[in-house]
Amino acid sequence: MQKKNKIYEGKAKILYQTDDPNLLIQYFKDDATAFDATKRGTIKEKGVCNNQISTKLFEYLESRLIPTHFMKMLSQREMLVKNVEIIPVEVTIRNIVAGGMSKLLGLEEGIKLKQAVLEYHYKNDSLHDPLINDYHILALEIATERELKIIADLSFKINGLLLEFFSQRGIDLVDFKLEFGREKGSKQNIILADEISPDTCRLWEKNTGRKLDKDRFRRDLGQIEETYQEVAKLILS
Ligand code: UDP
Repeated sequence: MQKKNKIYEGKAKILYQTDDPNLLIQYFKDDATAFDATKRGTIKEKGVCNNQISTKLFEYLESRLIPTHFMKMLSQREMLVKNVEIIPVEVTIRNIVAGGMSKLLGLEEGIKLKQAVLEYHYKNDSLHDPLINDYHILALEIATERELKIIADLSFKINGLLLEFFSQRGIDLVDFKLEFGREKGSKQNIILADEISPDTCRLWEKNTGRKLDKDRFRRDLGQIEETYQEVAKLILS
């Protein structure tokens, strides 16, 4: 598979074209940003860890019939993915109160929710990814009703699968963010895209509550590189 032009560079990843218009190479960087990129840094070998972790999680989800953009791991920092038109909405699923939900509603972090909460955030850095609801998405034609139903159903199903996966490894899945895209070509299928990694999930060690995710970087908790390596090891086991 030949790597061609860079088509997109985000905060943590780069997308390259390949000789097949339906496939892209997703490259994982070590760069880390937080608080709308006002905090920037590098986490050594994060790209390698996140590529391994995302690969394992996409393979696991595919084995449980979740359609994803993942095709295969190509190298330490690269995976081959399907080319999709990203729907500009971040889907957040929360099982335990933390981060944005704690701030928004003045709730203490750590409260276990009676049922999972799904949130939509409009992907727009200059507006700070504002919280929106189904009605905004339909009224602004960001996605159709059919697509939104698929996205919500898949997100809750993914939550169930990931809760089980992490629980078996001694980790509580607090919350996470997903992105979906329309597969290029005739079918326009909705599939899971982007990544699933400690950059996009909150993961707390069971019993101790030790943070095993990007909050170590956001909140200057130290042991950042070591924690990403630890999660990669736990997940690959
Ligand atoms: N998240 C993400 N990208 C974003 C915003 C959030 O991957 O641009 C993830 C974040 O790591 C957490 C979950 O989504 O696992 C919920 O984040 P929250 O809304 O609480 O925002 P934050 O506290 O990160 O500002």
